[in-house]
Amino acid sequence: MAGNITFSMIKPDAVGKGYTGKILDRFISEGFKIKAMRYTRLCKCEAETFYAVHKGKDFYEPLVEFMTSGPVVALVLEKENAVADYRTMIGATSNPAEGTVRHQFAESTRLNAVHGSDSDENAQIEAGFFFAQRELL
Ligand code: GDP
Repeated sequence: MAGNITFSMIKPDAVGKGYTGKILDRFISEGFKIKAMRYTRLCKCEAETFYAVHKGKDFYEPLVEFMTSGPVVALVLEKENAVADYRTMIGATSNPAEGTVRHQFAESTRLNAVHGSDSDENAQIEAGFFFAQRELL
């Protein structure tokens, strides 16, 4: 399965503005199959752990605050070349290109609507952070 899945999150800004359905529709229409999905909310400790790689950066604390500010939708998506294709679909962290999900739905670098894994290894780690093994069969 490695190489064929990515972990995705619809972040609190996009969920709060009612974009969940439109974003899911985009994922599906671009050929991603939903393997697992959960509507949930992160506590501070979970957000800190999820973004631990950024600890110490100036945007870390505001990022944790943002990610705990409301519910998220966590997803495992399946497609050939999932990590790279998903990141192309969502666009860059800052100044996302026209036609990308972030260009359409993000309002700033921080409030940028969606998360996506940056490697196959992190896709596995992030999927395992949110979902039990039996939910990923
Ligand atoms: P991603 O892989 O595109 O989500 O980007 P990163 O893993 O580098 O950063 C994680 C998240 O932190 C991003 O999605 C943004 O929500 C936020 N972030 C990253 N860089 C910055 C920054 O320079 N400024 C601010 N305000 N937020 C940032």
